[in-house]
Amino acid sequence: MKIPDIKSLTSRVETQRVAILSKIKRLKREDPFATDDRAIIVEPGTDASALFSHEKTIVLENQLKRDLTEIEVALTKIKKGTYGLCERCHEAIDVARLEVKPAAIYCMKCENELEKKKR
Ligand SMILES: [Zn+2]
Repeated sequence: MKIPDIKSLTSRVETQRVAILSKIKRLKREDPFATDDRAIIVEPGTDASALFSHEKTIVLENQLKRDLTEIEVALTKIKKGTYGLCERCHEAIDVARLEVKPAAIYCMKCENELEKKKR
């Protein structure tokens, strides 16, 4: 069985983390309605296209935050020495899968099952 190269996978996870953080920052800068508490006061006559871009930004930002959470879990697992093991069934995650997605915290089987549940 192939053994995951934890060192190179770790640096890839860290690179992804930095990239996502800078993307979130950029999104916030571009968001016309960005506020700290995320409360939007829509006043009459608010530019519809600006509002639309705000909503798109929120969706994107939530997506990025989900990715970031997963990356942070993966980094914690690296520290704990449980990296490469599925969070759900505790089986080893396929090395090929880790190479495609170094921040994967579930094995393929569990991820598919979790995806099904979401729907
Ligand atoms: Zn699993």
